[in-house]
Amino acid sequence: SAKHHGKQTYRVFEPQLMEVIQRQRSLEAALRRASMRDEFRIVYQPVFCSAKGEITGAEALLRWTCPEHGEISPTEFIPIAEELGLVARIGADVLRKACKDAASWPAHIDLAVNVSPVQLLDPRLPQTVAQALADSGLSPSRLELEITETALLNNDEAALRTLTQIRDLGVRISLDDFGTGYSSLSYLHRFPISRIKIDKSFVQKLPDDVGSASIVRAIAQLGSSLSMKITAEGIETDSQLSFIKEHGCDEVQGFLTGRPIALADFLVLTGQQAENVEA
Ligand code: C2E
Ligand code: MG
Ligand code: MG
Ligand code: MG
Repeated sequence: SAKHHGKQTYRVFEPQLMEVIQRQRSLEAALRRASMRDEFRIVYQPVFCSAKGEITGAEALLRWTCPEHGEISPTEFIPIAEELGLVARIGADVLRKACKDAASWPAHIDLAVNVSPVQLLDPRLPQTVAQALADSGLSPSRLELEITETALLNNDEAALRTLTQIRDLGVRISLDDFGTGYSSLSYLHRFPISRIKIDKSFVQKLPDDVGSASIVRAIAQLGSSLSMKITAEGIETDSQLSFIKEHGCDEVQGFLTGRPIALADFLVLTGQQAENVEA
């Protein structure tokens, strides 16, 4: 009853909470306008073969500079885009643009693109991927989509169908942030996954943290017995790199070997374009 309700009312809107809510509202409004205003850009983080140190690919990472709030991390704006129903379109734009960029890279350099759990729920995703490949001319064998375990959790029948269709296009699937979610081994078996990316939270505690070292070793062994490739993410130090090399991770990605960079800089890195010559 109203009387009862009145008694139970208490004050939750602390000034700080109000600020958080206002920022959220404002970001939502700004995100709705962002695509139209061309505020997104993609940066590329190089991925290297750990044995030889040669570049094997790059991960496309989305960046948004909001006119009102400045640079916003994708860990903040992707969840908002998911809630607002914008992530399918933003994700399709990333795929289209990144495939177009990668089509002009040397053929041994692969492209990885992140796919949100909400995108994976959309049965039109395989068609979106096929279209991005067709428009760009990028070979499907050079594209890898990164998904997280969350995406497989509640809708595994639908996810399996969608991922199988994508696999049948010749595109690979990798499991990102491995070790942080539910890490059910049945996922690895049930879904067409060809790579595991070990989450940076473990890699960053190497080599001293015994627990993280064991987890990384175990994932590397698991990967090799399931014939999956392993990438270690978030390598920042030489000792982390040494550990990873010793324990059979195939590829490395981290600030030590290369930060995410603009396309033009990535082209310089891969030797496709001379660095600016002084006039
Ligand atoms: P992720 O897919 O796991 O991407 C790796 C993140 O780790 C990137 O953060 C990258 O900059 C960061 N990183 C790489 N090496 C290091 C390192 O050595 N040290 C540290 N501290 N960090 C490192 P970023 O770009 O901020 O992206 C965060 C997350 O946002 C991504 O995590 C991914 O889940 C999501 N995301 C980014 N771009 C997209 C996108 O286009 N679509 C979707 N759906 N999600 C995206
Ligand atoms: Mg290749
Ligand atoms: Mg990723
Ligand atoms: Mg990751």
